[in-house]
Amino acid sequence: MIDTIRQNIRDIEIRISKACERSGRKREDVTLIAVSKTFPAEIVRQAYDAGLRIFGENRPQELREKSQLLPDDIEWHFIGHLQTNKIKYVLPTARLIHSVDSLHLAQALSEFAQKKNLHVPILLEVNTSGEASKFGFKPEETAQAFSQINALPHLELRGLMTIGPLTDNVDRIRQAFRELRALRDDVRKQWGEEKTAILSMGMSGDFEIAIEEGATHIRLGTAIFGKRGK
Ligand SMILES: *Cc1c(COP(=O)(O)O)cnc(C)c1O
Repeated sequence: MIDTIRQNIRDIEIRISKACERSGRKREDVTLIAVSKTFPAEIVRQAYDAGLRIFGENRPQELREKSQLLPDDIEWHFIGHLQTNKIKYVLPTARLIHSVDSLHLAQALSEFAQKKNLHVPILLEVNTSGEASKFGFKPEETAQAFSQINALPHLELRGLMTIGPLTDNVDRIRQAFRELRALRDDVRKQWGEEKTAILSMGMSGDFEIAIEEGATHIRLGTAIFGKRGK
């Protein structure tokens, strides 16, 4: 299993580098997040031993449990839908929350962070595919949400996140990533680079397209760990 994970990471590295080359980008401008959801700590440890240090989880309690079992120099990111009553499991462990998908959640995060005197880096999740099953702001709501959430204390906006459409249609996937980048460029005009530095987009099936369209953070589960059981 460890050899498989090592080999998967090697294969992914080559694909990331090639996508960077094709699009005139530098490898170090793309951050790989290993999405370890559903895999037990022993397996996550193998990816750690293979050199990975940034891991993403989408369930609050699972994040908390695994972070307690694994080395302290792991940087944990939270990438799933977050209910306000579960914020306590995610903070202060998560160093970046990719999935702030409502003003209500942002307000609750801000209150929690104020009480605990934390400064919490966040991304706004945008639903670029229009799929009803997906969370996130509508593209046309994003600029306003950005300025409202920017005004909340103890939150630090860092950019935007999206999940590509569930389709084999490469043009539609590319379109969704382009749309997120255009929204980023738009908010950047008003709010500057620091608050808009991160474009989190691209998963195992579509990360090369995402890199070509400007992703700074890609989130890979299956490509590293193999298929998840349900
Ligand atoms: C599960 C998940 C991923 C990783 O998906 P893979 O297709 O396994 O790479 C990325 N982002 C989010 C938000 C996820 O929930």
